[in-house]
Amino acid sequence: MKTRKVLVVDDSKLLHRMFEMMLRGFPLVHAFDGREALDRLAEHKDVELILLDINMPRMNGLEFLTAVKAHPEFARIPVVIITTEGTEDDTERGMQAGAAAYVKKPFRNEELLGVINRLTASPAA
Ligand SMILES: [Mg+2]
Repeated sequence: MKTRKVLVVDDSKLLHRMFEMMLRGFPLVHAFDGREALDRLAEHKDVELILLDINMPRMNGLEFLTAVKAHPEFARIPVVIITTEGTEDDTERGMQAGAAAYVKKPFRNEELLGVINRLTASPAA
């Protein structure tokens, strides 16, 4: 079952392309900053997991995460932080703010699927 909808939040178009290739078969929703991501969540109530960049314009990953965790409907959605070299402190802050996990770039496909499987109900075949 790969029907679980995943929201990708990153200001890098390249990262969105990479996730499209890695998560073939998953319905993906795309946002390029935190504010846009909040709009996408309001439209897609069935998002089951969020992959989150930290450094983004308008609203960064930590601000977005705080808003999600304070929201009555969105708070239950597991958030996985995508950690880039040099953002370890922010990742730590994100874990304290309620992120469920983080993956460090560069990561392998299996690693990412493992985290998704662990955090969502049904296994990704
Ligand atoms: Mg970024």
